[in-house]
Amino acid sequence: MTHSPELPIPVAFEKLGVEHAILRALAEIRFVEPSEIQSRMIPPVLAGRDVLGQARTGTGKTAAFGLPLLQKLDATGGFQVLIVVPTRELAVQVEGEMVRFARHKHTRIACVYGGRKLLHDEKAMERQPHVIVGTPGRILDLYDRRLLPLDRVRHLVFDEVDRMFDIGFRDDVRKIINACRSQPQMIFVSATISDEINRMVQQHMRNPETIFTAKPEDTQTNARAQQYYAAVNPWDKLRALKLLLTAEKPGLAIIFCRTKRTVDKVANALNERGFNASAIHGDLMQNKRERVMRGFRHGKINILVATDLASRGIDVHEITHVINYDVPEDPEVYVHRVGRTARMGAGGKAYTFVANGQGQMQTEIEKLTNVLLEPAQIPGFTPSPEPNRRPDQHGNGGRSSPAGGQHRSGAATEGYAPTSFESSPTAPAAPRPIHGRFPTRRRR
Ligand code: AMP
Repeated sequence: MTHSPELPIPVAFEKLGVEHAILRALAEIRFVEPSEIQSRMIPPVLAGRDVLGQARTGTGKTAAFGLPLLQKLDATGGFQVLIVVPTRELAVQVEGEMVRFARHKHTRIACVYGGRKLLHDEKAMERQPHVIVGTPGRILDLYDRRLLPLDRVRHLVFDEVDRMFDIGFRDDVRKIINACRSQPQMIFVSATISDEINRMVQQHMRNPETIFTAKPEDTQTNARAQQYYAAVNPWDKLRALKLLLTAEKPGLAIIFCRTKRTVDKVANALNERGFNASAIHGDLMQNKRERVMRGFRHGKINILVATDLASRGIDVHEITHVINYDVPEDPEVYVHRVGRTARMGAGGKAYTFVANGQGQMQTEIEKLTNVLLEPAQIPGFTPSPEPNRRPDQHGNGGRSSPAGGQHRSGAATEGYAPTSFESSPTAPAAPRPIHGRFPTRRRR
């Protein structure tokens, strides 16, 4: 693409030290003002410093490390920049962003990830990329086959480190760092900074610049996302979801479920009821996942039902709604999920279904995010008693959870079989709603 003369150079990026070839690209893709993480990260990365950056998803972190590294790399040399990301989707997305930033530079960028033929990545390596974006397992696989020379890495980025650790890539992260014997410039980017990440930083970084973009008193989630909870028990979830979707008419929504099975069931049930939904989870073939993502990005599918892992790196700007069909197991997962909406200044809504007994997790979420979730009004929704309970069980307030997981109800009203999670003996007991809210709920 040629640069149209009427496009003004983004001066604010120029002031950060960004070079002309990249400024041209930024003008063309309409990056005018740097985001906070970009303003604070670009100068130290340009100066060659190691950096630990705390930044939420959707705050422009890719450009924060990508722009200065594109500028620093030596186009006459070979492979120099390795960007390690937790998931395939994020790998594809980061590669896409880097290609956009580098459109006026002679930089070769490749993307490698598990789940597709190794031959594909071998071919990519033959093109001698300057920058490789990839997932840990595939990077190590290629390294073991002597196809990816980690000892040549000059700049090493770990993006979404917290997720990498959650997913269990701890050892792979260490192996990659140890294989890069060249003492590269190191950059860690993470939405949350745990003690473990701090330990890694101390072990491997030299005098790092530490950047926190959210002050402790700030909210962890995007202030523009309106955040609600609804007291909904497992057997009512699908009905509540349907009513919520009907009332909200989301432009683009992601519905998060805990298990792949629930994802499939919810997506099927929604489609049967005339919604335009697709499932995405790790059991789907890579090309199917890519097809679903393309459909979602282009608005052909407007409801994506996803597991947490599959949702990583979904960078679709206009996501209007995030619905936590299953409450996240960890408050930090909530931050990641809700980070899918209200990106880069747009608005959005997040709804979390909280079952009886899960009030404590809601409190943990509120403590971490520093946001008090508002009670949701779902038009037409009233909680129903647990189906198929014997009369004596209703008599004791529906609190007891009979042995053997008798929550398994078939949820006759929905024709919807509960998932293993929903029917497990540890699933929440029946609700005792007071005005649509549960008494276990602790307000601060
Ligand atoms: P990221 O956090 O890197 O995934 O970025 C989130 C989205 O915001 C991506 O689609 C970027 O292209 C976009 N973006 C990042 N920085 C800027 C900026 N300074 N101006 C406009 N859009 C941006």
